[in-house]
Amino acid sequence: MGVDVWVRRPGALAGVWGAQLVAQPEVAELAQAAPATVGPDSGDVAALWDNLRTEVRTCTKCALHQTRTQGVLGVGPRRVDWMVIGEAPGAEEDRRGEPFVGRAGHLLDAMLHAIGLNRGTNVYIANVLKSRPPGNRDPKPEEVAACLPYLMRQIALLQPRLMLAVGRIAAQNLLSTDLSLGRLRGKVHHFGELNTPLIVTYHPAYLLRQPADKAKAWEDLKFARSVFRQLTDRVGTDGDLS
Ligand code: URA
Repeated sequence: MGVDVWVRRPGALAGVWGAQLVAQPEVAELAQAAPATVGPDSGDVAALWDNLRTEVRTCTKCALHQTRTQGVLGVGPRRVDWMVIGEAPGAEEDRRGEPFVGRAGHLLDAMLHAIGLNRGTNVYIANVLKSRPPGNRDPKPEEVAACLPYLMRQIALLQPRLMLAVGRIAAQNLLSTDLSLGRLRGKVHHFGELNTPLIVTYHPAYLLRQPADKAKAWEDLKFARSVFRQLTDRVGTDGDLS
């Protein structure tokens, strides 16, 4: 396995603002079902997180519980501005109960590190599916439908300022679209009733197979970082993100 070094390259492409894709009704409805009024300052937040973790670990809402070791909620501080969302736990994640701890996870950590993010301090990492599909096959629609409310609860608790969807499966399910990953990159989408800005990039497992596309992923990360800076600058100047 090679060493992944993520550094700024001169002459890199600027990010492009594009058309917004708003999450489709069924996802928006799920977002409404989540306790969006519970903010990070609520006294009940710790209990809500603990309940969520327990529910996910022992969930039996879809058939995946028959083959997985445990449901995997997510990792990271409970107060963060950034949230990364992948597809589903793999074998190592299923065993250890933490997302992105295998080879792809090491690359994801390197990618995030390149824009100043670390799962121990300032980014929360989760998956669309909390249970591992056997053989790492793609999630089935009914599995995603059963699992999405957990993600909605996570998002409602975290209230991240920016979401980064890694990979086609995460992006398509979050945005309820069949558009290719190539069409979804380089734009600011919005997710859920909180209208959280969402940016799409490649899955690190794909990048391990296609290292030539790491340059494009680096463009995406810089784009995400610049969008985040614009969001936080606007808060600093006029306090209004609308
Ligand atoms: N791939 C994912 O999408 N998520 C993980 O947690 C691990 C690998």
